[in-house]
Amino acid sequence: MAKYIFVTGGVVSSLGKGIVASSIGVLLKARGLKVTMQKFDPYINVDPGLMSPLQHGEVFVTKDGAETDLDLGHYERFIDENLTRYSSVSSGRVYKAVIDNERKGKYAGKTVQVIPHITDEIKRLLKRAATNTKADVVIVEIGGTVGDMESLPFLEAIRQARRDFGHENTFYIHATLVPYLKAAGELKTKPTQHSVKELKSLGIQPDMLVLRSEEPIEQEHIDKISLFTDLPPESILQSYDMKVVYEILLNLQQQHIDDIILKHFELDNLKKANVKQWQQLVEQIKKSDKKLTIAIIGKYVSLHDAYISIIESLRHAGFKMSTLIDLIWVDSEKVTDLNISKHLEGADGIIIPGGFGHRGTEGKLLALEYGRKNLIPTLGICFGMQLAAIEFAQNVLGISDVCSEEFENCHNPIIQKNSNHKFKLGEYTTNLKEGSKIREIYNQSQIRERHRHRFEFNPEFSDLFEQNGMMITGYNRQIKAVDVLELENHPWYIHVQYHPEYISRPLKPHPLFLSFLEACKNNKNLKTD
Ligand code: GLN
Repeated sequence: MAKYIFVTGGVVSSLGKGIVASSIGVLLKARGLKVTMQKFDPYINVDPGLMSPLQHGEVFVTKDGAETDLDLGHYERFIDENLTRYSSVSSGRVYKAVIDNERKGKYAGKTVQVIPHITDEIKRLLKRAATNTKADVVIVEIGGTVGDMESLPFLEAIRQARRDFGHENTFYIHATLVPYLKAAGELKTKPTQHSVKELKSLGIQPDMLVLRSEEPIEQEHIDKISLFTDLPPESILQSYDMKVVYEILLNLQQQHIDDIILKHFELDNLKKANVKQWQQLVEQIKKSDKKLTIAIIGKYVSLHDAYISIIESLRHAGFKMSTLIDLIWVDSEKVTDLNISKHLEGADGIIIPGGFGHRGTEGKLLALEYGRKNLIPTLGICFGMQLAAIEFAQNVLGISDVCSEEFENCHNPIIQKNSNHKFKLGEYTTNLKEGSKIREIYNQSQIRERHRHRFEFNPEFSDLFEQNGMMITGYNRQIKAVDVLELENHPWYIHVQYHPEYISRPLKPHPLFLSFLEACKNNKNLKTD
């Protein structure tokens, strides 16, 4: 039987309960347990695949090809484990499964209800998260705030989980806000008291509270909260603002978060967690004394979360180089040939991220041309690579009508529908060409990276590209797909059909982002010399 840790939030959203959940994951893994994580989201969309990045931020793709909530990206980066399609559960997904079952007559004529049918489906998914990964511990974050109508079925299911799975196999953590009222000069515990009361009224007595605040909270407040919530003061932890996000996990460890949980699980004889690498990372980040400026050109730049994995990947690589990353956000729809150099003159490197649809592509093409001609390190990801192919064909090969089949009325598709896959999602193999820059970067002849696209490079253009210096250096032999383009006679102009940003981790920066930043550093040095 796997152990389950449920993390709910109270008072307000954006409390960082995901960071609390992930930190617990890191600590329990470091104690030798196999950990997986799961997110419950109250929205009715079956998955975030069709949601606008401006609404919901990035869609995170798992190794097994599920389009999931961006929180899974944070989990994977923290706990350094690949999650699965069972890790992302929305209300829509749960209801769809139940309604599909009902239509197939699987409920033998019974009246289908929230309890037990919806809650049973949620519990089935709780179990699948564990069986699918063979995890000892499943950490489940319940999206939204306790008191929202929307998350009630999830809360009811986790309440039942204690009854079904056993007291010693379930642990409830409630993260709440303890605000500081400046005018009164006081910390306020009442919202926390009310939030716990609300949770109790749903039948859930938390085993631990994590209090979020701007400053450390004094014992008298902890004691007061203890009195009102029936929790011993030792089980009331705090998470106050830290300079570096990874310090939160060190701080929670100092408060024995893992010891308390493992004691409850009757697993208290495990080795201590070694967090030396995280301590070193925090020190390294604090010591960062260099800076690089990277421009990201996209259609969704008004919501930075739309590119969160790319931002994180740049940061990870930066940590290793003691370098902080400054980002220039360029709205591709506002770029013209008159203002492009103004937008990009301060950039040490350029990234053209993934995207969909024709709108805004002109600006991205201009940015690719700028990076190519001015010898600025340029990385195109997915749609970015497809546009790099179009830019090269138009401006270097002089084939002005090339386009993508994704665009309307495309008669000369250099980017075409892939005949093998409707939507290529998840991990695939890419073979890297001997002697290429990309092969040197990975130092491997074969890599596995995650994909998310419907269209691909048309291999009929391969010879012409290579004769003119744009080399095809990554290739999926099995399904004959072009995965990497790189330009000769340019310091760093590499484009990939896959999404390297999904697999970078703070303690294991991705080689492609590292190499990209190294090239940006050289570019910056050249400029300042
Ligand atoms: N729109 C492109 C395709 O579907 C690229 C997708 C992406 O960038 N993720 O092929």
